[in-house]
Amino acid sequence: MTKKIFAINAGSSSLKFQLLEMPSEIVITKGIFERIGSSDAEFTIKYGTEKEQKTLPIQSHQEAVDNLLNVLISKGIIQSLNEINGVGHRVAHGGEEFQDSAIINESVLQTIENLNHLAPKHNPVNVIGIKAFRAALPNVKSVAVFDTAFHHTIKPEVYNYPIPYKYYEKYRIRKYGFHGTSHEYIYKTITSLLDKREEGYKIISCHLGNGSSICAIDNGRSVNTSMGFTPLAGLMMGTRSGDIDPSIIPFIAEKEHKSNQDMNKLLNNDSGLLGVSGISNDLRDIEEAATNGNKRAELAIKMFVNRVAETISAYVSNLNGVDAIVFTAGIGENSATIRSLICKKLSFLNLTLDEKKNGSSEAFIETSDSRVKVAVIPTNEEVVIARDVLRIKQETNPYQSVLQ
Ligand code: ADP
Repeated sequence: MTKKIFAINAGSSSLKFQLLEMPSEIVITKGIFERIGSSDAEFTIKYGTEKEQKTLPIQSHQEAVDNLLNVLISKGIIQSLNEINGVGHRVAHGGEEFQDSAIINESVLQTIENLNHLAPKHNPVNVIGIKAFRAALPNVKSVAVFDTAFHHTIKPEVYNYPIPYKYYEKYRIRKYGFHGTSHEYIYKTITSLLDKREEGYKIISCHLGNGSSICAIDNGRSVNTSMGFTPLAGLMMGTRSGDIDPSIIPFIAEKEHKSNQDMNKLLNNDSGLLGVSGISNDLRDIEEAATNGNKRAELAIKMFVNRVAETISAYVSNLNGVDAIVFTAGIGENSATIRSLICKKLSFLNLTLDEKKNGSSEAFIETSDSRVKVAVIPTNEEVVIARDVLRIKQETNPYQSVLQ
């Protein structure tokens, strides 16, 4: 029997939605509310061949949800709210408590709220989204799908930081990793495209977007990932620095009289491709400037590529080999130049790219004699969320948070 499942991603002033028919994974409708909390919020919805956009006052996420459900009925996209069988919510941080998606009940909601301090910009707004849907559809199953859960298989020697151990015990400071739904989708998709075989595959998934992370996956299990305690760690990103020598932080703070908050902003919002190029956080602008001879744009691209290639190389060691490297997200899916530059730095793996395929829309872009497969696969986090709403059958009782 087919089911209609929502995949929801609530941001501080936005609400992204998709309504999928499952298990066919057909998108019935999708869209976004932006600038929630203002009198000129923006609502965009696509269904069939239609696309509608309007500006309207939306004061809260609750109003956005109520509005959305009314629109679905008034446009005839669904006949009644009873047709909605489940709602899956993306939740940024599941801490150590959630190793899988969870059916939402009061205790799960409370545990997510107890993790707010680990993702202060994301978890509280995710909870607002959950509560809004629960109020509007009180009898519909809702499931929380955590960005961190896929990485629960990472071992302690990888997830611990070499700082006094008491901070792990006291505050659970450790690597968590993010983009889990994307890496999981990539693993499942690539392995469905590869020949069936007994032993599992070793896959390196490169999610390169405005936020970027790489994940080493051994037979479906995440063994390492580049984001850490927060999404600031690892690769150079659109506006985030990624890994830097930690001493730089107190050094700049002292010299420039900056507070912790200022430093957080500097590293999260003013760094990365934007900070180095001084042009934009959007790779398209930087590629254009580099083509026109802008040296800092060239430097930003080289730094980005270096960091990605270094991380992939380290993960080949973690996995003790690699069968396929997959590129996904805005940059990974769209920039043939970046893919080519990264793969040139990996020729020691006897990996070679077929530049013609790299410029096409084919999934596999390596040459026939390449020892490692290279693929481009568009990510689809919403599908993982909708699949999990169907997959998670029993109410999981998360451990009581150690931080309560
Ligand atoms: P996020 O979801 O993390 O906000 P996306 O995965 O949408 O980010 O990726 C956004 C980035 O992808 C943009 O900032 C841009 O740099 C890059 N991008 C998108 N399209 C292209 C393209 N055609 N060529 C190069 N880069 C692109």
